Amino acid sequence: MTTNHLQTPIDRLKGLWPKRAEMLKKELGVSTFQDLLNLFPNRYLDRTQYYKIADLQPTNAEVQIVGKITHIKTVEQQRGKRLVATFTDGTLNMELVWFRGIKWIRESLRLNIPYVIFGKTKFFNGSFSMPHPEMELLEDHERSIRSAMQPVYPSTEKLINSGVTNRVLNSTMQQLFLESKHGFAETLPKPLLEQLKLVSKSEALFNVHFPKSQAHLARAQYRLKFEELFYIQLQLIRKNLLHKSKIRGYPFEKIGDNFNNFFSHHLPFELTEAQKRVIKEIRNDLGSNAQMNRLLQGDVGSGKTIVAFMSMLIALDNGFQACLMAPTEILSVQHFTGLSELSKRLNTNIEILTGSTKTSKRKEIHKKLENGELDILIGTHALLEDKVKFKNLGLAIVDEQHRFGVEQRSKLWHKNDYPPHVLVMTATPIPRTLAMSIYGDLDISVIDELPPGRKDIKTVHRYDANRLKVFHFIRDEISKGRQVYIVYPLIQESETMDYKDLMDGYESIVREFPLPKYQVSILHGQMKPADKEYEMNRFVKGETQIMVATTVIEVGVNIPNASVMIIESAERFGLSQLHQLRGRVGRGAEQSYCILMTSYKLSADAKTRLQTMVRTSDGFEIAEVDLKLRGPGDLMGTQQSGVLNLRIADIVKDSEILKIARSYAMQILKADPNLSSEENIPVKNTYSQLVKYRNIWNYIS
Ligand code: ADP
Ligand code: MG
Repeated sequence: MTTNHLQTPIDRLKGLWPKRAEMLKKELGVSTFQDLLNLFPNRYLDRTQYYKIADLQPTNAEVQIVGKITHIKTVEQQRGKRLVATFTDGTLNMELVWFRGIKWIRESLRLNIPYVIFGKTKFFNGSFSMPHPEMELLEDHERSIRSAMQPVYPSTEKLINSGVTNRVLNSTMQQLFLESKHGFAETLPKPLLEQLKLVSKSEALFNVHFPKSQAHLARAQYRLKFEELFYIQLQLIRKNLLHKSKIRGYPFEKIGDNFNNFFSHHLPFELTEAQKRVIKEIRNDLGSNAQMNRLLQGDVGSGKTIVAFMSMLIALDNGFQACLMAPTEILSVQHFTGLSELSKRLNTNIEILTGSTKTSKRKEIHKKLENGELDILIGTHALLEDKVKFKNLGLAIVDEQHRFGVEQRSKLWHKNDYPPHVLVMTATPIPRTLAMSIYGDLDISVIDELPPGRKDIKTVHRYDANRLKVFHFIRDEISKGRQVYIVYPLIQESETMDYKDLMDGYESIVREFPLPKYQVSILHGQMKPADKEYEMNRFVKGETQIMVATTVIEVGVNIPNASVMIIESAERFGLSQLHQLRGRVGRGAEQSYCILMTSYKLSADAKTRLQTMVRTSDGFEIAEVDLKLRGPGDLMGTQQSGVLNLRIADIVKDSEILKIARSYAMQILKADPNLSSEENIPVKNTYSQLVKYRNIWNYIS
C-alpha cells in the first residue's frame, strides 16, 4: 500500500458520516487513514468466553452470552418508558433493558433468532438483567472481522455524544481494513524482522485492532512498540551523527597555559576518577573537528563546577571566550564567586551579568565582551539577550539544564556565526533509558562518584507531633557551630496558602530561636533580588544560623557549613525535588542530616517517596523510583512535561525494548548512514514520512 493511501482523509471511508469524521479530527486528532491506524486501543475486553445465564455471578462484570429473544414489551414508568426483552439461552431467562432509542431498537430486534449479546449484568430480585447490551446476530458475528479481544479505543465525552461510540470506531476501523486490501507497507527492514522475529506491519496492525488471541495481541504490540522506539532513536542518532559530520566546531587543538598552570599548581583538591574521565571526554570532543554537544550528568555535589571551569580554560587557551548560564541569580552569583576564586592566580577576566546588573556595568560588560577583553561571562537568562555579543564564544555551558527549555539551549548556539561547543550540566539524575530517548541527540558523560570523605547524609522521617524534639536537635547542631535550612513548599496552585505557611513557620522559628542568640534568614521568590542576595549572603557568611526558605534554594547553592536540612510538609514534594534539597547539606566535613517532616495523613505514593529518601541517597536509584511513580512526563518538571508523546510504547515498562531498538538503530545507521541500501528502503521511506509529518520535536518539549 502506498503512503498516499495512508494519507487519505478519513471522511473518504464508506459509512463514516462527515460530522463524525469532523469530531474524530477535533477530539482525537485523527484525520487520515494513518492517524486512525495509529489510534491504538487503551484496553481490550476479553470476548473469548461465552457464559451461560445459569452460571452468572452477581459481579457486575462484562459477559458475553448466546441466546434468543422470546418476548418484547414496552413498560411505562414514571420517568419515561423502557423497553424490556426476555432473553433465554436454554439455561435461564434474563431481561434486556433499554431506556433510550426505544422505537428504533424495538423495530430492529428479531424474535427467536440467535444473538450474541455483550455487556454488564445487573442482579436484582433474584434475576439478572443487562441494560443496553451490545448485540449482534450470531450469523453476522461469525462472519465479521471479529476479534476475540475487543478493543476499547480512547474517547471523549463529546465524541460519544456525537455518536462516535466505541462500536462506531470499531466498525470504522473494520471499514479501513476492508478498503486496504493490499495490507500496509512494511516499515522495518527484512533482516531486522527476521533477527528479532517480529511480525509484519500488516499483521501487527491487524492484530492490535482485531486481536485473535492474547498471544497474537502481545506479538502485535511488541512489534509496534519496537517500531515506535526504533524510529525515535533513529531520528535522534541520525541528528547526532549529522551534527557531527556537518556542524563543524572550532577544534581546540592545544592545551595551553591556563589549563596546564591550573592543573599543575592550583587545583584545590585532587580530582575524582570520574571527574578526570569526564574532562578527558570533553577534551576529546573539543579537540575534534565536530561541535561538542554534550550532556554532563552528575548528582548534587559530585563536582561538576570544576569540570566546567577546566573546560572553559581549554577554550581560553585556544583564544576563545566561554560562558556559563545558570537558572537563577543566586546560582549565577555563586558560580561567579566560585570561579573567581578558582581563577584568582590565573590571568583570566571573569564577569557576571544578570537581570539586576546596573546599566553602566552592563554597558561595560557588553563592550569588553565584544572587544575580547572578557574571557568568561557568567549569568542568568540575561546572557541570551540580543545585545549580548561575544567576540568569539567558543564554549557555552548551561547549568541545571532542566530549568531551561530546548529552545533556550539552541538560542545560545546561535550567538555566533559559527556554533560554540555546548556543555549542558544537570544534577537531575535522569535514568539512562530516559536520557537515551530524550537526549539521544547529545553525547552523555556521567560523574558517578562523589568526592572522597563525604559522609552519607542521615535521613529520617518525623511526624509534625515530634517537632519539639526536632527543635531540640536544631539547637544542638547550632551550638556545635552548624547551620540549618528549613524549607517550606511553595507550589504555584496554592501560592497564597503556602506563603502563609511559610510566614507562620518563620514566625514560630523566630519565637523558638530568639534574638540575640539566634539569627534567622528568610528567602522566598517574592522578595526583591537585592533582598534575597542580602539574606543569602548573611547565611553564607555564617551571620545567621537558620535559613527559612522555599525551594528557591533548591538548585546548586553550596554552603558547606550547613549540616541540617529540614523539609516541612515533605509529602508535598516530588522525589527529585526532595533529593535536590537534601543535596544542599552534606557538603562539608561534618555529619549532615535531612529531616522530612509530615503530617500523619500520607498517600501511598507519598509513603513510597519518603521511604525511598530514607533508604538511599543514590540519585539514579531515586530517579528510577520517581520515574515509576510519576511517569516520564513529570520527571523534568513542568517545562518539559509531556516530554515523550508515545503512542503505544511506555518509556518505563518498555525500557528493554528501547535498548534493543536503540542498538539496532545505531547499527543500521553506522552501516548505512544514508539509508540507501536495498534492505533499508522501508526505513528510508518511513523516516522521510516521519520527518515530514511528525518531526522529532513533536515528541520533545
Ligand atoms: P555540583 O556537581 O553539585 O555542581 P559542585 O561542583 O558545587 O557540585 O561541588 C560540590 C563541592 O564539592 C564543592 O564544594 C567543591 O569544591 C567540592 N569538590 C568538587 N570536586 C571535589 C574533589 N574532587 N575533591 C574534593 N572536593 C571536591
Ligand atoms: Mg552545581
